[in-house]
Amino acid sequence: MKTDSDFPIASMRKRLLAWYEAGGRSLPWRIRPEDREAGQKADPYAVWLSEIMLQQTTVPHATPYYHAFLKRWPRVQDLARADEDEVFAAWAGLGYYARARNLLACARAVSEAGGDFPALEKDLLALPGIGPYTAAAVRAAAFNLPASVVDGNVERVITRICAIPDPVKTSKPLIKRIAAALADPDRPGDYAQAIMDLGATVCTPRSPVCAACPWQTECAAHVQGRPEAFPVKSAKAAKPHRMAVGFAVFCGDRIWLRKRPPKGLLGGMLEVPSTDWRPESWSDEAALALAPFSGGWQARASIRHVFTHFTLEMQMWRREADAGWAPEAGGWYAVSQIDQLALPSVMKKAVLAVV
Ligand code: SF4
Repeated sequence: MKTDSDFPIASMRKRLLAWYEAGGRSLPWRIRPEDREAGQKADPYAVWLSEIMLQQTTVPHATPYYHAFLKRWPRVQDLARADEDEVFAAWAGLGYYARARNLLACARAVSEAGGDFPALEKDLLALPGIGPYTAAAVRAAAFNLPASVVDGNVERVITRICAIPDPVKTSKPLIKRIAAALADPDRPGDYAQAIMDLGATVCTPRSPVCAACPWQTECAAHVQGRPEAFPVKSAKAAKPHRMAVGFAVFCGDRIWLRKRPPKGLLGGMLEVPSTDWRPESWSDEAALALAPFSGGWQARASIRHVFTHFTLEMQMWRREADAGWAPEAGGWYAVSQIDQLALPSVMKKAVLAVV
């Protein structure tokens, strides 16, 4: 295994930055080296917004959301004034809804403090939803300040150039230390973007394009002829399975939805009423005893949704009701409007399975 002291660091920085200048990605929230040279500065609000969206989401999936948010809420103060339901609805489809709640809480905190994002790491870390990675990314990309940004792409590059023999889970401190030693203190913003781009476009999980890599000569995994052997994989635990029965109540072209409790999974989002989500399957009798009201239910398709920590299988039932029916907090919503609601993907699937 190699470590930072085995590398010609100055030369590697130079080559990586030259590669980035020639072939790095242009992303809408990013200041490219030529823009920086021309005196342009990144908008910290836009950088922060993109970083929150990109957590667990790919660039192509997040980009339309990024544009939509900036169009609707061009400044952090505009977002701070938004309603939680509005933000949830605009976020629907990006998943991990706690991020949307933290996004709004962070916008409000920044707005209350005057509207400028802080540049100090400790101040960034004090904001809702900002952890060490996002703080480093905002410092480097928005303020061009020294920060070692280590995302999954960077982890892959570092584990490969060093041929780290342990899984990422157990070698994170080592990866961080090596990444920090390689980072260029003179061009922190460009360097952070360059190494992330190297991982995203050249040092890809499968079939890395080593021939196009500026670090090919130093890369231990390449020299060993087995770049894909790194990062070393840890044994994967099987994902737990949960079962539920969902109850869709329609009144013509409207569906009755209720709000989930504010805390926890999908907190504050709308949902189709359902039984508990549990490891054991539900008999029809047991499930229908928990339905919003008895009689008239028709069984429909099952949906399957994969969350980060478990897979949910939900058998959907449906029935019609009068518009005056309202058993508990909730309301009627036009099915044609579900894309505009704060309805998480799993519940959208559930509705579409029974319309
Ligand atoms: S040489 Fe290949 S494996 Fe090594 S960092 Fe470059 S692309 Fe990745």
